[in-house]
Amino acid sequence: MTQPGEPFEIDASLAAGISRAADLVLRAGSVVALTGAGLSVESGIPPFRGPGGLWTKYGEPPLDGYQRFLSDPRAAWQERLSPRQSWATALHETLGRARPNAGHAALARLERLGCCDALITQNVDDLHRQAGTQRLLEIHGNHRLLRCIGCTRRFAAGELAVDPEDLPPRCPGCGGIVKDDTVHFGEPIPPDVLRGCFEAVENADCMLVVGTSATVFPAAEFPYEVLRRGGSVIEVNPHESELTPLSTLSLRGPGGAVLERLVAEVAAGRERAA
Ligand SMILES: [Zn+2]
Repeated sequence: MTQPGEPFEIDASLAAGISRAADLVLRAGSVVALTGAGLSVESGIPPFRGPGGLWTKYGEPPLDGYQRFLSDPRAAWQERLSPRQSWATALHETLGRARPNAGHAALARLERLGCCDALITQNVDDLHRQAGTQRLLEIHGNHRLLRCIGCTRRFAAGELAVDPEDLPPRCPGCGGIVKDDTVHFGEPIPPDVLRGCFEAVENADCMLVVGTSATVFPAAEFPYEVLRRGGSVIEVNPHESELTPLSTLSLRGPGGAVLERLVAEVAAGRERAA
């Protein structure tokens, strides 16, 4: 098993799979990508569970996190702003150090080529934004943003003044309570993002699933929906997953190396067609 950062050799059989995948992408009417934690492992972000996992190290966030926030937003904000090393602070620092990898860059390039209509991610790490993807649907939010729970408006760092004497901060648009954008346990997926996902998936006839087994709602629905309407699902994952038996094509390798090659082939195909 190749460790993150180690060079990965694409053998002949994987290369053949990548060429078939490039063909599926080029022939598709609408491609949507779906990414998960596996892609960010190559950027040095540990998974949540397992040895070395963020939750293993810092403790799991409360299962009723959203209810706790709603019942006392002021206390939740005080905790967030306290210098005490909390779970959220540690996570924020780990994510803050990470940089996009070749896989994030390849997906941004795929969009620029006109071959990725939307990118749905389960990651909160901001790396797709940093790599330049524009049509991004972050179903679990973004750790750098704040969000109004009333109207879903997002605020970048510094865009909204947070006064420790007057918590929680309020949305200047609708007066709603502002929380961090990261979706807590028990919190519904922000409705604007969920709507965007279903619209993108309804129009897609090819889905590229990278670094996730897509077993958690709502992501679990998306590959099935594409397959049900006769589309194709391309899995990119170093490991076999629950999605493997259903996939049209499984590319067994790390997201960085595989996507870089795949997108280069798509670019070459676009040039030939032009
Ligand atoms: Zn608002």
